[in-house]
Amino acid sequence: MERIDQRWITDRLNSGFSKDDLKAILLSSDEESEILFKAAREVRKHHFGDRAFIRAVIEFANTCRCSCVYCGMRTENTEILRFTLDPDEIVSVAETALENGIRTFFLQAAESEEYNAEWLGDVIRRISGMGMMVLLCVGIHRVDDLDYWFEAGARKFILKHETSNKELFEEMKPGFLLKDRIQWLRTLREHGYHIGSGPLLGLPGQTMDSLVDDLILMKDLNVDMSSVSVFLPAKGTPLEDYPVGDVDLGLRFIAAMRLFLKNTLIPATSTFERLRENGQLRCFDAGANVITVNMTPPRLRDDYELYSERFYVSLEHARKTIGRAEMVETTEAELFGE
Ligand code: SF4
Repeated sequence: MERIDQRWITDRLNSGFSKDDLKAILLSSDEESEILFKAAREVRKHHFGDRAFIRAVIEFANTCRCSCVYCGMRTENTEILRFTLDPDEIVSVAETALENGIRTFFLQAAESEEYNAEWLGDVIRRISGMGMMVLLCVGIHRVDDLDYWFEAGARKFILKHETSNKELFEEMKPGFLLKDRIQWLRTLREHGYHIGSGPLLGLPGQTMDSLVDDLILMKDLNVDMSSVSVFLPAKGTPLEDYPVGDVDLGLRFIAAMRLFLKNTLIPATSTFERLRENGQLRCFDAGANVITVNMTPPRLRDDYELYSERFYVSLEHARKTIGRAEMVETTEAELFGE
């Protein structure tokens, strides 16, 4: 295989990356990876400068109708406390975020049926009324709800596709079809949202070719936000004894996203820090430009069990990581010149 060097990268940045090129990035050696990371930082700099922003997430409901085999919140898991936060508490957390200079608020929930469109619309309206950008990650709902939430002020929506491999997707998310999830992402776009997606890296049976297809799917969808999380097993799930995903492959995937998708927002996700000290700093080194502070009330956040023994990103950790990456903190609006 041809060795990856700066010239190899420049050629492809100019003329495009083939599937084989993307696979070569994912399979690159440590030495090649550092060259790729440097190039990814240059691409980031070209599009965004050396600026990163912090968003705050609150996980407001963990009751879930789904049975994703990798997730601790699957409906069969009786070991966790199920909760839906009170709207006033959510808004109060958003106020705290704003007081601390965070201008993007991320409302995340499992596929819960414990709240309705009006309930969430009211929360969105109150938070966007404070001048904050509202980002949703709440799974699949009715199309009418999308318009209602957009009117209330939500502008961004993340729906992770988890894997672009149809068989693996349907094995990991019983009862759901990959094509429906992709269609939902397109529907979100049609209804005015900026969209985000990405894979869970390290699922059992996932191949390098399927990770390449994840990149191509995100390009086809023209996502505004692209992310990768590294698989960590959750207790009480069918995958609880499976090995964790490969952090270094995750970092190469971030570089591939930056080089291939170029101008998307890429978060340094907490799974990297959970698996390796300074893991999120390495994400910034590989081309990330966003970090999310967890503001779910501490009394409940262990019950939002995407994986066991989560790493909770504090504001102090986020600011320190941005500084150590030699980046400057900004807000999402400033990043886009708004
Ligand atoms: S991954 Fe999301 S949809 Fe699936 S069980 Fe967990 S919370 Fe529910």
